[in-house]
Amino acid sequence: MTMLHGNFEGQAAPHNPGLFEWLFGQRKHAPDKQANDRDNLSVVERFRVRHLPLIEQVCEFLANAGLDPIPDHYELGWLYVAGTSGMQRLKIETHLLEYGRIDPVDAVKLLDDIRATMSERALSDMIEEAKHKIGEARATTEQSSRDAASFGINLGISLSDLGDPEKSKTAIVKLQKITAQMMERTARAEAELKNRAKTMGQLRSRLVQSQKLALSDPLTDLPNRRAFDINIKETIELARSKRQPLSIGFCDIDHFKSINDAHGHATGDRVIRYVADTLKKVVGQSIHVARHGGEEFALIFPDKTAEKTADILDNARLALNDRTLYARNTSAEIGHISFSGGVAELRCGENVSALLMRADNALYRAKETGRNKILIAP
Ligand code: GH3
Ligand code: MG
Ligand code: MG
Repeated sequence: MTMLHGNFEGQAAPHNPGLFEWLFGQRKHAPDKQANDRDNLSVVERFRVRHLPLIEQVCEFLANAGLDPIPDHYELGWLYVAGTSGMQRLKIETHLLEYGRIDPVDAVKLLDDIRATMSERALSDMIEEAKHKIGEARATTEQSSRDAASFGINLGISLSDLGDPEKSKTAIVKLQKITAQMMERTARAEAELKNRAKTMGQLRSRLVQSQKLALSDPLTDLPNRRAFDINIKETIELARSKRQPLSIGFCDIDHFKSINDAHGHATGDRVIRYVADTLKKVVGQSIHVARHGGEEFALIFPDKTAEKTADILDNARLALNDRTLYARNTSAEIGHISFSGGVAELRCGENVSALLMRADNALYRAKETGRNKILIAP
């Protein structure tokens, strides 16, 4: 596998001699000696020998792309290095060549794109598998009815023989044999059908599971951007058919980068989860809250005007402001978290992207005019 190096303008990246030590502490053996001494290695050392090249490539990818070490970026790096198709890898490389780095927002888009392609592929594989199983089940059923038909024919011949005392003894033996054969075939067909029903059941739960994975965000357990995109279209149609208002809100945590920088990404992740929980709790169940990417959330408020939506989001903002947070691992004070929000109410005849754009612009204005506030789009 070839990796792009350096600043993606052709020159090789300087090898970082401290990377191994930074990741795993002191190097204990020279690599070739490690291979010879494989049997004497501890579990951790064996893990290093086996997986270090991959881990190093992922780190190299993150460093070259200018991406922070957060779960989504690790996933993108891993998919780039080891897990994705040539087409998707090309897309990442083209992006890197064009921009020299990957912006966190673009990283989310690239990752969404890869996940969507992967889940579509997984779904079509499963559909193919289901078609195959249904075909097999039909073949079993057809064979069973063929067996039953031939049993009927054989039985007919045998019954006519029963009238003749000479032939009746052999006819009964023949009849017994045919019946035994038929019973065995029926039992076999039944077992096969049972087995197929079980496989179909497993297939169905895999399908449900993969649909869930494709539409949810693993960090917060909220619906992801893809789910939001599907949901907003459906909710707009519903609102129009019922002639009801509909508003959306974008919320973005303020100065989140500085939380990561001061307390580490694991604490940053916990803050994102905390904001997600607060939003969900304050806005209530009828509101669709999604993680739109990074430290940004998108909410759909069916049946709500912009003013009502801004009020609800303001309550969530105040609830968040209210608490002083501390880093779990160091007990250091993180302080008060805030977010900024932009709200837009659907206009007559407006399409989804125009609505999202207005909410995004309102969010941008909220950031520009001091943060920690919710603004309504004109
Ligand atoms: P602003 O108030 O203007 O929004 O400033 P900001 O620092 O919140 O925004 P900026 O876009 O500069 O930085 C967002 C940071 O969020 C950068 C990125 O590394 C980090 N981030 C994105 N996703 C995650 C994640 O899943 N976990 C963690 N820990 N950090 C993340
Ligand atoms: Mg932010
Ligand atoms: Mg942001």
